[in-house]
Amino acid sequence: MSEEDKKEYKENLKSIKKKAAKLAKLIRKSKYVVIHTGAGISTSAGIPDYRGPNGLWTCLDQNRETPVVDKPWNLLEPTNCHMTIATLLQRGLVKHLVSQNTDGLHLHSGVPLEKISELHGNSNKEYCKDCQSEYFRPFRCRTSREVHDHQTGRKCDKCGGKLYDSIINFGENLSEKQINSAYLHSKKADLSIVLGTSLRVTPAADLPMINVKKQKGKMVIVNLQKTPLDDYASIRVFGRTDQFCFYLMRELEIPVPTFKQALELRAKKRREKLQLTEKEEKKQKIQEYKFFQQTPKSLFLLDYYEEEIHKKTKK
Ligand SMILES: [Zn+2]
Repeated sequence: MSEEDKKEYKENLKSIKKKAAKLAKLIRKSKYVVIHTGAGISTSAGIPDYRGPNGLWTCLDQNRETPVVDKPWNLLEPTNCHMTIATLLQRGLVKHLVSQNTDGLHLHSGVPLEKISELHGNSNKEYCKDCQSEYFRPFRCRTSREVHDHQTGRKCDKCGGKLYDSIINFGENLSEKQINSAYLHSKKADLSIVLGTSLRVTPAADLPMINVKKQKGKMVIVNLQKTPLDDYASIRVFGRTDQFCFYLMRELEIPVPTFKQALELRAKKRREKLQLTEKEEKKQKIQEYKFFQQTPKSLFLLDYYEEEIHKKTKK
């Protein structure tokens, strides 16, 4: 990795705002928008990236101590960029999300399973090779320390088969299901938005380019470091994804909840819907807490705050 590859660039605020306005226009005009994300969008959640100044590859390259996640995994929260993507998908302004990240924060933020292709797996997901059942856990599934050993030690509830973590390590084949859906949606895209990836790992790096080469679509890249595809981008932003998303959504006039707000709204709606008394609510909360322990929040978060946001924007 060259010094040039590691360098981060930042544009001034005026330029970032201008490009956010330009992308907002482009999103409104486009029919099929697909977003592609990489490690860069999760660094502000406390997860180190690969090629940033304190990234994994950079540290290995410079013989420095490798970075660690600074919070327990179950306390990591989706960033403003994650919440923005979830909101755009709910609104139908973006049709699909392709991610190289395995941290599970997209599902956590409320992205439905059918709207995401996770190319390199999901640390919260384990699956049965015998009956193909998938299990989402509120903890990291991987237990093995051997690179190519993926057994987690747990068994399938349905057939008793061995469960395997879904993480794809270097040199391993991608999940056919995930790569196929990623290709399918990338081929339909007339606008590809690349957020927080240096586009150096294939096939993830090829997907946003599929339609640009055929001149059927446009590509926008937001990343602090240069990428090999920069010359093909209609809009190229050197900025933080959280910051850029903030100005983008302001241009689109769509409010984005924080992760905590989304959870609170969900809880409030549930109380109203079920018309719970205080005592019942307390009992429910205990049950809900138990449920939380077993299910990632993401999988039932989405529908709760959707209506609330619609109400807010109609005012
Ligand atoms: Zn099974």
